[in-house]
Amino acid sequence: MTKPVTDLIHHPYVPPAGFAAPQPGVFKASTVIFANVAAMRARDWKHKTGYTYGLHGTPTTFLLEERIAALEGGLQCVLVPSGLAAIANAGMALLKTGDEVLLPDNVYGPSRNLADGEFRAWGIAHRLYDPMKPQDLEARIGPHTRLVWVEAPGSVTMEFPDLPELVRICRRKGVTCALDNTWGAGLAFNPFDLVPGEELGVDLSVHALTKYPSGGGDVLMGSIVTRDDQLHQQVKLTHMRVGWGIGANDAEAVLRSLPSMALRYRAHDVAARALARWCEQRDEIVQVLHPALESSPGHAHWQALCGDQGLAAGLFSIVLHERFTTAQVDAFCDALKLFKLGYSWGGPVSLVVPYDIASMRSAQLATWPHKGVLVRFSVGLEDVADLQADIDQALQALRAAGHS
Ligand SMILES: *Cc1c(COP(=O)(O)O)cnc(C)c1O
Repeated sequence: MTKPVTDLIHHPYVPPAGFAAPQPGVFKASTVIFANVAAMRARDWKHKTGYTYGLHGTPTTFLLEERIAALEGGLQCVLVPSGLAAIANAGMALLKTGDEVLLPDNVYGPSRNLADGEFRAWGIAHRLYDPMKPQDLEARIGPHTRLVWVEAPGSVTMEFPDLPELVRICRRKGVTCALDNTWGAGLAFNPFDLVPGEELGVDLSVHALTKYPSGGGDVLMGSIVTRDDQLHQQVKLTHMRVGWGIGANDAEAVLRSLPSMALRYRAHDVAARALARWCEQRDEIVQVLHPALESSPGHAHWQALCGDQGLAAGLFSIVLHERFTTAQVDAFCDALKLFKLGYSWGGPVSLVVPYDIASMRSAQLATWPHKGVLVRFSVGLEDVADLQADIDQALQALRAAGHS
């Protein structure tokens, strides 16, 4: 006879059979219990034939991995605690001392900081290339280049590169190509099938699930999706050695948000495009950056990849006239009421961030043509007329400040 306190732990409960609810159960574990030593020794965590330890996966995380791989058209997926951790995990898996990684000049900023910090300290060099000039990438790939990052579009300045051409160059040169697919999110284009009939795709697709898959502004998570088992194993080994586990509640939140993701993405897109087109009419603004606008750099590449009626994420940037000082543009951002000051995107709340682009670019490439301050909007799920009125009132305040 065991004591009641023990019976509370070793209870006869088994989950109900035939309980086919819309959402899966949430399984939590660090420890997974084995029937005997032989089972413990025999179980292989690498191929998902069984469970060994919470860090290496639970039914909840395995399910989310399958769904994210399916979303992006891949076969395998590794989940990590943030989008940036996914970028780091991919780099750590593929690069060693003496290697070189190439980054687009408009790369997600923290990715560049990582290359400048830890990777440089580990003897891994990086160089920047102009993503709008495929020949520039081609020329910079050298004997030590092991990895090329691509992004479509750059998530602040929104230039849309000729992604298929960048990937073809990596193929020709035999260099692994990794995409930061947070903007496309698996919805705007298929990263593993970029051109119908050509069998052209990236090798790894990294996604900040923090953005659209979460959709709530309340979860941090990242994924690394592949279509090659050997590459996946490399990523997975690094993941295991580093120990980047994710929490079951976070996995549950993303699993709950995924069914509405395509609808949300489309709603963010429609609203962002309407606001971007409206901004094009304003003379305080010299350039609106959104790949679906004809005047935005790389518009034709977006159209070719995503289709004439194609999708785009709910992000756009404006460049204000150079007569407005940085302090005046800061005041414009402060004057916005519905657009909140905050990083990230993909959630219900509209967000705004001013950027000093010149300081973010390599002087050597000097690809940024504008003098005015750039402001990036992440469009949430509020009523679009309310958002437009909000930008309008802040622009009126800016205009008044510009005249004083
Ligand atoms: C947000 C973001 C990331 C990083 O995601 P976190 O979960 O915030 O670490 C990476 N790439 C892009 C393009 C992003 O927008």
